Amino acid sequence: MDLDFAREGVFVGGRWRGAASGETLPIENPSNGETVGSLAAGGADDVDAAVDAARGALSSEWGALSAAERGRLLAQIGRAVLAQADRLAELEALDVGKPLKQARADVVALARYLEFYGGAADKLHGESIPYLPGYTVFTLREPHGVTGHIIPWNYPMQIIGRSVVAALAVGNAAVLKPAEQASLTALAFARIAAEAGLPAGALNVVPGTGAAAGAALAGHPGIDHISFTGSSGVGATIQAAAARNAVPVTLELGGKSPQVVFDDADLDKALPFLVSAGIQNAGQTCSAGSRILVQRGVYDQVAARLAERFAALRSGPARADLDLGPIISARQKAMIEGFVEVARRELTLIGEGQVVADAPSGGHYLPAMVFGDVAPDHRLAQEEIFGPVQVVIPFDTEEDAVRIANGTPYGLVAGVWTRDADRLFRMARKLRAGQVFLNNYGAAGGVELPFGGVGRSGHGREKGFEALYGFTVLKTVAAHHG
Ligand code: ADP
Ligand code: MG
Repeated sequence: MDLDFAREGVFVGGRWRGAASGETLPIENPSNGETVGSLAAGGADDVDAAVDAARGALSSEWGALSAAERGRLLAQIGRAVLAQADRLAELEALDVGKPLKQARADVVALARYLEFYGGAADKLHGESIPYLPGYTVFTLREPHGVTGHIIPWNYPMQIIGRSVVAALAVGNAAVLKPAEQASLTALAFARIAAEAGLPAGALNVVPGTGAAAGAALAGHPGIDHISFTGSSGVGATIQAAAARNAVPVTLELGGKSPQVVFDDADLDKALPFLVSAGIQNAGQTCSAGSRILVQRGVYDQVAARLAERFAALRSGPARADLDLGPIISARQKAMIEGFVEVARRELTLIGEGQVVADAPSGGHYLPAMVFGDVAPDHRLAQEEIFGPVQVVIPFDTEEDAVRIANGTPYGLVAGVWTRDADRLFRMARKLRAGQVFLNNYGAAGGVELPFGGVGRSGHGREKGFEALYGFTVLKTVAAHHG
């Protein structure tokens, strides 16, 4: 494994160096629990240097590029990412424990973001506004300036794509703080981008803990926008820290997203999604479809078919490329096990997969599980588990379905399965979520599709063209010329 590909340390102003403190963090392979290397543990001094470097980039080579030049450069970086697809996928499989197929899909998504936002960079424009005689008024979309990006460990490359790449496309200079559990592909990306010609300081990466590097970035007075993806609790802390400097925030937080199955649904089509939307990335997905709401008429049939499918699911090392890899860490696994303990005591287990026999004993494995007949207000139907644990909730009427679906503090994604077209559109209007999928779930991940939540799932939108509005600020120019 060529770890050196990604391990240089802190990347500031186009240079690699160790953390100012000289401290490091261990890099764990969750498939076997072994320490495979060490990471620079950046802190406040490193964040200061990174923010300074980003500020400097805005008034040097990076800031002088035209929108078209920025776009061309991002597209070029996208091709460089694809050229390194195997290495990046292996690195992510090692660091996050993702089955190789899923890690590879993340690389392809990152390349696609670079292509999409590369193409969009020179297509974002303002408006002219009819106003009083003698005036000409128009709006400009300008970059915020220095953007901070704090990202989690579950989909590092995809989140770099939708957040950092979108911010760069419209001319910001970025400081990225990857998660301490999974920083390798962020570091590798910085290296690939620099080699492909990204000017010094446009992208700076400060690995380190949330408490040190993350908190320093969130509360830094020198940043102009912060984008955070992670847990709802930390999201609230970030918003509070940013508020002290009146820095705008985009928060992509957790979810407890429903998949609603009506009696008249095409079950053959729905079943694979009911499973995959819950167990993808071992359930460590903010947009997981983790509550399955099933109308009574097909409840028994859906439960039986879920049981069969779950029994076939295998958890094992990333390299074995099975349905589920390990959980990211012993700590996360223990948190999921806390939920499972309650579930085993209070709920009915209707289906369970297996951890393969030769899975290394130091790895953090869990079988996929599905629990049935769960009451909508049960803890397992309300709280984000962030693991491969699905709950099935029966319902009677469309009104019940809407009430249950909307009955958590979250509102990220929702899926609806029915052959009744009127009902599909009614549901789309009534569900409280940032994305609603009709007779599908996730729409294959499309980078084109704006994504974000309401309520505890956060606010602001990333992905799609919409993200570019979030990473710019509108200036109104009014000229009086008589
Ligand atoms: P998860 O539960 O998915 O690990 P977290 O919200 O704990 O999500 O972490 C997401 C990101 O937020 C990580 O990069 C982490 O280091 C960072 N982080 C954690 N705590 C803080 C904090 N207090 N301030 C800033 N960033 C933080
Ligand atoms: Mg790791």
